[in-house]
Amino acid sequence: MAEQPRLKLAVQKSGRLTDPSLDLLARCGLKLSRGKDQLLGFGENMPLDVLFVRDDDIPDLVQEDVCDLGLVGLNVIEEKRLELAARGATARFEALRSLDFGHCRLSLAVPAEHPYDGVHSLQGRRIATTYPFLLGHFLEQRGIEAQIVTLSGAVEIAPRLGRADLICDLVSTGSTLQANHLREVETVLQSHAVLIRTPVALAAEKRTWVERLLLRVEGVEQVKESKYIMLHAPRSALAAIRHLLPGSESPTVIALEGAPDRVAVHAVCRETIFWETLEALKRAGASAVLVLPIEKMLA
Ligand code: ATP
Ligand code: ZN
Repeated sequence: MAEQPRLKLAVQKSGRLTDPSLDLLARCGLKLSRGKDQLLGFGENMPLDVLFVRDDDIPDLVQEDVCDLGLVGLNVIEEKRLELAARGATARFEALRSLDFGHCRLSLAVPAEHPYDGVHSLQGRRIATTYPFLLGHFLEQRGIEAQIVTLSGAVEIAPRLGRADLICDLVSTGSTLQANHLREVETVLQSHAVLIRTPVALAAEKRTWVERLLLRVEGVEQVKESKYIMLHAPRSALAAIRHLLPGSESPTVIALEGAPDRVAVHAVCRETIFWETLEALKRAGASAVLVLPIEKMLA
């Protein structure tokens, strides 16, 4: 019997995207067996294996069809796109969907005491970055000429070392900038993780699994914020209560045995339910309010 073709997915080996990527795959039902320090994780219950690599290698691995899929930051793929364009080439990987992790932004930051009043302040400056193409594109679009100092890391200390006047680096909370007395002044790119795929057509079995995986990812992202809410209420308060339930479709209304004017309401809410909402529900007449997490959802 012919062996089933297996999908190969590239994931960052060790870094900020590793845990959230593996967490997403686990939530999609993948059981991965992986020996310590092994480069390849074997999918025990799906025809999908995970290749662990440096994040910067993921776009190439996917566009060269070494891997069928990859999980990587938008910052990395957009830098790659511009780098290829500068060489007259076109990126061949395709973005399948944006994911709700790896949120950060590529920003310009100046030493705290430095005056800054708009992009023209960048004219003639030396800017340290590991993203020369994204930065170059940003400057070019604004007609600014500056010197891009390309580094391979430790960008945030470049101004102190006298290697640059300011920096262009990834920021999420801003604590690294603060620790280095830098002030964020412009956003070059808002980023998050992206699922990318090979430009090569997939065999039917692989295509089916990519589609299944995408549906599961969809389900995982939907349930993240979603909650199942159950409560009792007077029938007369139904309209007010429906109005208060955040992001819910038509709730299920169930008659309560022996209480003709009271009902049970069950609903899926697709937004966070805050204490304020529960308090408002209670004021509207709700009682026995229960909010439950949803583990899986399939639309
Ligand atoms: P590698 O060894 O794989 O090349 P790296 O040092 O390039 O690792 P990380 O610092 O682990 O990579 O970041 C990986 C990705 O995580 C980034 O490209 C970006 O998409 C995302 N990210 C999210 N928040 C941040 C942040 N605050 N700083 C840097 N990257 C972030
Ligand atoms: Zn990297």
